[in-house]
Amino acid sequence: MYRAAERLTGRRIEATYRALLAHDTLGADEIRALQWHKLKALLEDVYSSVPFYRRRFEEAGIRPDDVRGWEDFRRLPLTSKRDIKAAYPHEVVASDRLHTRLIERVTTGTTDAPLRFVIDTEMFDLGVARALRVLDWAGSTLGDRMVQLGPIRERRGLQHRLFAHMTQRLVLDTLALTTSSTPLCCPADTSVPDQIDLDRAGRYCRSIAAQRPGLIYGYVTDLLALAAYIEHTGFTGIRPRAVVSSAEILTDPARRRLETIFGAEVFDLYGATEFPAIACECEVHNGLHVLSDSYVVEIISDGRDASPGETGEVVITDLDNRVMPFIRYRIGDAARATDRRCSCGRSFPLIDMIEGRTSEVVVAPGGRLLLARRFATILQEMEDVRAFRIVQERIDRLDVQIVTRPSWTSQHGESLIQRIRALVGEDMEVTLSQVPDLAVDPSRKERYLYSSVEYDIVGGRCYRS
Ligand SMILES: [Zn+2]
Repeated sequence: MYRAAERLTGRRIEATYRALLAHDTLGADEIRALQWHKLKALLEDVYSSVPFYRRRFEEAGIRPDDVRGWEDFRRLPLTSKRDIKAAYPHEVVASDRLHTRLIERVTTGTTDAPLRFVIDTEMFDLGVARALRVLDWAGSTLGDRMVQLGPIRERRGLQHRLFAHMTQRLVLDTLALTTSSTPLCCPADTSVPDQIDLDRAGRYCRSIAAQRPGLIYGYVTDLLALAAYIEHTGFTGIRPRAVVSSAEILTDPARRRLETIFGAEVFDLYGATEFPAIACECEVHNGLHVLSDSYVVEIISDGRDASPGETGEVVITDLDNRVMPFIRYRIGDAARATDRRCSCGRSFPLIDMIEGRTSEVVVAPGGRLLLARRFATILQEMEDVRAFRIVQERIDRLDVQIVTRPSWTSQHGESLIQRIRALVGEDMEVTLSQVPDLAVDPSRKERYLYSSVEYDIVGGRCYRS
């Protein structure tokens, strides 16, 4: 059926998917050699076809020929979102592709202005193949019944709908699933939050039950919304083997809740609009395997590779993208490096849980970095807090905004302030505001922290965006 769907729609996914899946049996050295081979070819290509990288390499005094080992590669300059935005499209799109038929995409995010980039249909299909390949690790092989949940911002044409239908993939648009403005950030909450559109949740649950998927794949927020509906109404009939959460941070309480309510194994997938699948858990759940046959993923702390156990910023090079290449690109996420090996037999290196967007980092005076998740943990433990947001507009001031339940008292407020102060230190002013509601961006990513204080990972310098 998959082949028939490809023939009918002109899509090309299966061959790439199978080729990628075959890499599961390669040894670590073989993967490293493949990665190096692809990297060398990529650097040659971008030097000749992408003015932005050519200029950056020249400024650093490096030609592709000079890159003879990983140490040389690490001398290439890092690329920021800001750099790409300033050079888009003429300087960053390969010159021979600039006037061809391309698809423009936009990243989401509330703290950064969105990033525009282009791909072609081949890259689009490669992205699908990469995602399907990791879904295979979650036990879903090509063509198995599947449900995909997500906010769909672009209108999908007939060809996409036909392809999804023929390949037994049900796609549900969740943009309007959670209606109002209070984020579902307290997964321990067992009541149905009033922001879920119950009619829609009911319709979606019935469609999912009829689809009988082996796997449900979507944003944590949307999976939690359906879980809340199922628990509230006692809905039965959705029994996937696996739930794969992506695009948002999967906290431990959220994972446990999804496992219990869906009765399924939960897998964490790390991806982004620019890179559909970067790393994913396998059946052992021993961290996330980086797809190092497709990317070079570096975790950088203090301008060098993070040591095992150390948290750093994720820097990505996409080894296959020749349309608008991303080389040593600061994606804006934080992860922990590890040198553990996995007992599943796959040699793809592991990284630990993505701890948050780096735009979800609170920068304390003196350049100390505090991940927003640490605040989230404190706030999620407080039963009287329904929702929260941390706002940092100045380096020495933090405003904690909360939506409370009726049981909230001023003692709770004092204890909360004390715990936050203990985390941020004396040199930062902490204020607490009770608000009736929190307006969030409909993309619902990066919702714990709204900070306009940016920082520079290499220089440790802080600057206003
Ligand atoms: Zn594994």
